Amino acid sequence: MDTSISDSSAGYGKSDDYFGSDLFLDINKASIMRINKITVYGVRLPLKQPFKIAYDTYHDIASLIVSIETASGQVGWGEAVVDQHVSGETYLGAREIITRELAPLLMGADASDIAQFHHVANRKIRHNPSAKAALDIALHDLVARECGKPLYALLGGRSHARLELPYVISMLAPEEMARQAKEAARRGYQSIKIKLGDTPEHDVERIARVREALDRSIALRVDANQGWSAKQALQVIRHAAPYQVDWFEQPVAMENLAAMARVTKSTDAMIMADEPIHGVKEMLDVIQLNAADMVNIKLMKSSGLRPAMAMAEVGMAADIPCQIGSMVESSIATLAGAHLALAHPNIIANDLVGPAMIGEDVAQMPGDETHIVLDDSPGLGVTIDRSRVRDLSEFVDTID
Ligand SMILES: [Mg+2]
Repeated sequence: MDTSISDSSAGYGKSDDYFGSDLFLDINKASIMRINKITVYGVRLPLKQPFKIAYDTYHDIASLIVSIETASGQVGWGEAVVDQHVSGETYLGAREIITRELAPLLMGADASDIAQFHHVANRKIRHNPSAKAALDIALHDLVARECGKPLYALLGGRSHARLELPYVISMLAPEEMARQAKEAARRGYQSIKIKLGDTPEHDVERIARVREALDRSIALRVDANQGWSAKQALQVIRHAAPYQVDWFEQPVAMENLAAMARVTKSTDAMIMADEPIHGVKEMLDVIQLNAADMVNIKLMKSSGLRPAMAMAEVGMAADIPCQIGSMVESSIATLAGAHLALAHPNIIANDLVGPAMIGEDVAQMPGDETHIVLDDSPGLGVTIDRSRVRDLSEFVDTID
């Protein structure tokens, strides 16, 4: 199904815009990158194998891939992958928000006015971070391509040489998880992340079996995806002490920052917050409550790169190292996360494993199985084949 929306009154450059003020300053810039077309592709990307975590099992990934084009023919690509458990957004809801609410705001605007996009979008509609992220990523890609620079150069330049990828293992039987860990290490992975959140007894067994399958030089990380109570978390952490776990991610329910704080204060183990921490506001909550030692930033929670970078900065000021995570995204949003991870000294790990899990991607990730290596190609650094994206689409919306 193709939907086309043409609204000549849209765009926050117009005097009669939604806000009734010149929020977008049309000052006759010499080199304006004027946006004149946005396309939203609804694609379903099959996973190589089902992905099972504490709160759901996934067989494919529903993705909204967005392109923004300017009058001069420059194109930027972005993507939204929603997680309704985390942001409350749905795939079709996010489609509506992008196509009907946010994309029309950008018609006629200068693609480089990214801060203003966030300001206007946040006033127009509350929350909906994945929908905002899709456009934020596409704007960043577009501006970087126009400048002829890799995206990381616009985000602060290089802070890391390359990005080491972890291998993520679903919550399965302990022996199966140990088998997969051993196999991943054989293939060259230097860090293993295991999904937990079952009973403490079973989870300690999983940690023990996986660690026994691995050399001590391989990093082991645990993500409970909110599966434990504070007491259960402390129980698991205590029994896992011999098994050299780098950190425990989101042990307790996202609604309960007080419980996160209780766990964090009661152990020497490193505790990482994920699901409840969306933007700078929640980052400040973590700092104020001492609710975590580390934070997992995701573009789909933060509304995109610009707020994510602010979170990394705030974290650095408070001695909270950050990870860049993902919602199992295609190479488009994954690469956006990778450019930020490469650029920021306070981002010390990543969880950018979407392309490794997806059977059919829309571009080829740069690097190899265990590393993302970004060169100086402009923008996200890959060529997106529009006809391939269109072939994978179950619907296409055009805003022009
Ligand atoms: Mg997590």
